[in-house]
Amino acid sequence: MNILFFGPNGSGKGTQGAIIKDEYNISHIESGAIFRENISKGTELGAKAKEYIDRGDLVPDEITIPMILDRLKKDDCKNGWLLDGFPRNKNQAIKLDESLKEASLALDIVVEIILDREIAKNRIMGRRLCVNDNNHPNNIYIDAIKPDGDKCRVCGGDLKTRDDDQDEAAINKRHDIYYDTNEGTIASSYYFKDLSSKEGSIKYITLDGGPGVKEVTAELVSKL
Ligand code: AMP
Repeated sequence: MNILFFGPNGSGKGTQGAIIKDEYNISHIESGAIFRENISKGTELGAKAKEYIDRGDLVPDEITIPMILDRLKKDDCKNGWLLDGFPRNKNQAIKLDESLKEASLALDIVVEIILDREIAKNRIMGRRLCVNDNNHPNNIYIDAIKPDGDKCRVCGGDLKTRDDDQDEAAINKRHDIYYDTNEGTIASSYYFKDLSSKEGSIKYITLDGGPGVKEVTAELVSKL
């Protein structure tokens, strides 16, 4: 099963993606997490990506596209994958589509999570990352997933924030890119929506990201 996840930053893509990954035993590939891992390991890729990430800009396509297309060729993707955070613009969507066709790989499902921009912004600012697993949901502004004091509610690990999550200008820029209907992320989700109406094999699902984590998961599972 090969799945694409779209949704504005803060809509719960990562949280839902982690649940679906376990349900279907597929790889969860998060472009942002790959960049952050490279930054913390001090790699050349991380050094190149950092300045863009800190500003809320997209890392250039020459870096991002090969990084993800190569990642999809790894053994752990043979049983399927869930892409979260890629494609992020129309060019990435086209390149992904071409690459899948070249490799005779089918895209099965596209999920688009819909969430009001202001609500998404609050969620981003309240988000806390567990040092043991960044998919452990912790958010100081959401009752259902409030951390346990200053520790992770799932494993008790230490929590940290992402620099780009505490910078309102960077958040606004990330959302501007997301909602750009010509070249941005929404344009790339519409690229696949269009493909889904032409090629019956792709299922396009929209989800209301407003309710709590469990409710959104239940709606998602019922639609998959
Ligand atoms: P995220 O964790 O998805 O919020 O991504 C964090 C940051 O990584 C983004 O604000 C971008 O700077 C960068 N990034 C993640 N995915 C992509 C992508 N597909 N294309 C370009 N930059 C990306």
